[in-house]
Amino acid sequence: LDESSAQTVKRYFKEYYFRFGGRIRAPTNIESREFGYFPFGGAMVRHLSFKDIGSFRAILVKEAPAGVYCSNSLYHEPNAEMHLKGWIRAELIFDIDADALKLPCKKTHDIWLCKGCGKKEFGLRPETCPSCKSNRVLEMSWTCPVCLNGTKKETYRLLEILQADFGIPSSQTRIFFSGNAGYHLNIENSAYESLDTHGRAELADYLTGRGLLPSIFNSMQLSCDNPGWRGRVARCIRDSRVGEGPFKSEEFDKRLREFINVFSKAQSEKFLERVVSENAIRIDPMVTTDVHRIFRMPETLNNKTGLVKRECTENFDSFDPILDSIALKDEKEKVLLEVDLSPRIDLGGSSYGPFRSARVELPLYVAVYLLAKGAGKLIRLEPNNPKEAEAVADKLKAR
Ligand SMILES: [Zn+2]
Ligand SMILES: [Zn+2]
Repeated sequence: LDESSAQTVKRYFKEYYFRFGGRIRAPTNIESREFGYFPFGGAMVRHLSFKDIGSFRAILVKEAPAGVYCSNSLYHEPNAEMHLKGWIRAELIFDIDADALKLPCKKTHDIWLCKGCGKKEFGLRPETCPSCKSNRVLEMSWTCPVCLNGTKKETYRLLEILQADFGIPSSQTRIFFSGNAGYHLNIENSAYESLDTHGRAELADYLTGRGLLPSIFNSMQLSCDNPGWRGRVARCIRDSRVGEGPFKSEEFDKRLREFINVFSKAQSEKFLERVVSENAIRIDPMVTTDVHRIFRMPETLNNKTGLVKRECTENFDSFDPILDSIALKDEKEKVLLEVDLSPRIDLGGSSYGPFRSARVELPLYVAVYLLAKGAGKLIRLEPNNPKEAEAVADKLKAR
């Protein structure tokens, strides 16, 4: 981002933390958590610890950082170096991101950028740039109401499987909109908090269906009301049409025997691939597995969008990120932007764009979203904010 665009985003963050920093709550066991943040244009500051949230909030108001984080792990010495911290336990965390759903809308709103020639276009990232043949092509993911709704559905599926297969009740689950492209789930006070990385990896494999082998089912009595994957496999056998795959019989019992005794290894594997693609939960396994991460804190801003990471456990059904996660919804303050390329965006009850090499006047929160996405640059602030406009103008002159 150029200087004046970056300043506009930072000013927005600062005002948010000044007005609403008080909404940031202390996590449980605050004294055992690692905190961190990264300033705009600076490097991550980690391994901090606080006894009360007030001291941390004071830093946020002063620094207006681009990202604010806290560990899901508890440590004996949270401010020590990683290998000296003394890990105690960690909440179980799941991350569901629109990008991982690979929905058809992705190709209508994602943008690729060639680092070779600078070409920017809508669509899925090509292997090589069609203009200059460079293979240094970046992918920039955007979201739309369809894929955000997709992440909500996926979250419901995850909640269901956590309850049915792991006995985790919804009362132990907290749901957060990430402030960008999906939802985070935190499981608190569960028996799973003491699981190490390997245990968490197995849990992630189970949810994503990774490593599901036909041989697992050979000796099992499969039935449609079996719990877990056995039931999912059985129901998929039941619901397949004759001739779909290698199934020959109409009857469920006979089909079961076909699956176990008649299918070739390749046929069984192909069938299980289908069961997995229909039933896997598309979590990011790295997020669940890594117990040394720090996570964006609720009620802080996501630097990729300027939206709030917000808890929606109580109102998940009605929660709508494009309405309910806007940090500062002041329609009066307008900003003039030069947008090079942006898909249509839906925010705050209106839609904007798509834009291609356009000068547009936008509400500040929409402008911040586009700037954070790297889609444009600031031309000027509206004169209804004359002081700021002057300051920006002076800055531009000085450069
Ligand atoms: Zn190129
Ligand atoms: Zn979409």
